[in-house]
Amino acid sequence: MKLAINGGEKYRTNPFPAYNTIGVQEEEAVLRVLRSGKLSTYLGTWHDDFYGGPEVRALEREWGDYFSVKHTISVNSATSGLYAAVGACGISPGDEVIVSAYTMSASATAALVYGAIPIFVDIEEDYYCLDVKSIESKITPKTKAIIVVDIFGQPYDRDAINALAKKYNLYVIEDAAQAPGAMHNNKFAGTLGDIGIYSLNYHKHIHSGEGGIIVTDDDVLAHKLRLIRNHAEAVLSAKGIEDKSELINMVGFNYRMTEIEAAIAREQLKKLPDLLTQRLANTMYLNDQLAKIPCILPTKLRPNCKHAFYVHPLQFDEKIAGMHRNRFIDAVKAELPPTLLREESTVLLSYGYVRPLYLQPLYQERIAFGRNGYPFNLSDVTYPKGLCPVTENMHYNTLITHEFMRPGMARSDMDDVVNAFKKVWENKAELL
Ligand SMILES: *Cc1c(COP(=O)(O)O)cnc(C)c1O
Repeated sequence: MKLAINGGEKYRTNPFPAYNTIGVQEEEAVLRVLRSGKLSTYLGTWHDDFYGGPEVRALEREWGDYFSVKHTISVNSATSGLYAAVGACGISPGDEVIVSAYTMSASATAALVYGAIPIFVDIEEDYYCLDVKSIESKITPKTKAIIVVDIFGQPYDRDAINALAKKYNLYVIEDAAQAPGAMHNNKFAGTLGDIGIYSLNYHKHIHSGEGGIIVTDDDVLAHKLRLIRNHAEAVLSAKGIEDKSELINMVGFNYRMTEIEAAIAREQLKKLPDLLTQRLANTMYLNDQLAKIPCILPTKLRPNCKHAFYVHPLQFDEKIAGMHRNRFIDAVKAELPPTLLREESTVLLSYGYVRPLYLQPLYQERIAFGRNGYPFNLSDVTYPKGLCPVTENMHYNTLITHEFMRPGMARSDMDDVVNAFKKVWENKAELL
């Protein structure tokens, strides 16, 4: 059978079903807000409405109940949430913040925004999260926080990293944008560190178009997060501030979520358990089926954890395949159709994830804010190629990620995916 990449027929041409979680519940929620006329009630001065309107507050209550966490602070994106988290921890110019090299770029820019230097650390071979073994040698007197990422939906190595953070008195900021509903020992991802951040962006498990959620059990951090969200400087009164350190990073932004987004997010939260159950069942099916192909290695699950599978990571064995991963995956992609609502992203199958962050021009050239290389001009840290060898090997040689497990994919759709992989495996001689 001739492979599609060589001009043969595609294994499947009709698109995969859309992943659309928006339904009548969200429609009604939006109408409820529109009809109320109150699309946001926030005020950036000291007032009852400093903490937002009824939908925003209801979402925060419901989110906190669901995730069993004391404080929930909604914001307009997870990026804003990460920025606010770094600010609330009092991070200062020249401080160092440890962050995974393999994550969405905002996990690291959060440090830069406060003038801190991201110190990139390599990932675990098995779980792709920050590798605790690589952290300790990077800790210096300047280190103030660790930004851990529950990458692809896998909770970070909580016990080991939290113990290290405690030993060196560091904050743990948990980027759980890809892991709503994931768990470590029956505790939700996002609540495993000092501050956790979720995303409600369109590409995430549940969404309101754009949006983010911050959670913490710490009263002081929660207070600061709420101030940063909404023009801190305008509401902090000079009277009563005895300790001037209370003003650190109390320069506010407008990170506020609208009532419409909050109303949608409330409906989406109700759907999360069922969506996760489907996602997990689909992933386990694909994991088992794809692992029957000799050059594909199944994903590993961290013990005592529940994975949320934002994407499904697999490993490719080049020796067994007799060719580079990219050649094989290009051939599989050629066999498959795009997914509805996501046509622009073509086939939801990739080699690697995003480029290791320190290879971005920002870090290679050490140019961030302004002309003088701030904040890199406060530090000798450089970002050479090879800095994080595990990450680089994953990205350029071994990691495969796909999103064919999203709810809405039927068993027959997933079988088409598996059969496309099989077709390429069985006809791999055509690629050599
Ligand atoms: C999506 C994502 C973000 C950013 O989320 P936004 O809500 O789009 O700002 C941050 N970190 C990780 C790991 C993400 O996947």
